Amino acid sequence: MPTLTVICGPMFAGKTTELQHRVQTARDAGVVVVVVKPERDTRYAVDAIVTHTGERILARNARTAADIIALVDAEPTPPSLVAIDEVHFFASDAVVPIKTLLSRGIAVVVAGCDIDHFGELFAPFDELISCANLVVRKAGLCTRCGAPSTHSERLVAAVDRIVVGGANEFIATCAACFRPSERTAAGQPRAPEPRSSEGVAPRDAVERRATR
Ligand SMILES: [Zn+2]
Repeated sequence: MPTLTVICGPMFAGKTTELQHRVQTARDAGVVVVVVKPERDTRYAVDAIVTHTGERILARNARTAADIIALVDAEPTPPSLVAIDEVHFFASDAVVPIKTLLSRGIAVVVAGCDIDHFGELFAPFDELISCANLVVRKAGLCTRCGAPSTHSERLVAAVDRIVVGGANEFIATCAACFRPSERTAAGQPRAPEPRSSEGVAPRDAVERRATR
């Protein structure tokens, strides 16, 4: 019976390390594994999944979630396990290919952020967690208070729900310290207010200079 393992949690919690460990353990046992990552995640490498601390493992690039099936079908040896990193990049599109793999008797392990920077549950975890055989929820440390981290807080405003970012754009926090990205009435994130220390001249001062 194929199993679905879901590794979730905030950024900097060791999710990719956990995924790599499970891939390596399976390979050590002789299991054929295919590792897939979203093509748009090129933060550290084009052809590998790499942890924030630099551990790497070769991976196939999927441009869309449907590509996951095509990549598996193109393998010379059919895999018994498919590992998918950063699965939230595919959002709810990931659910059908994952269920297709399971129906073919292929085990699946996925890793990704289950809560977005607005503090809301991220697809596809809303659907995957309910049908997972095992859910591994990773935690690091809250940047503000040192408690176990649960949330990924974005330090600068972003329009997209899905943002490729590294250590300089996100911090991990606990639920109590978490400051969600704000949405305006139009549903768009609010840009940070410019501060006077950033050298932004008041509008009337700019206009006075322009008419001098
Ligand atoms: Zn905290």
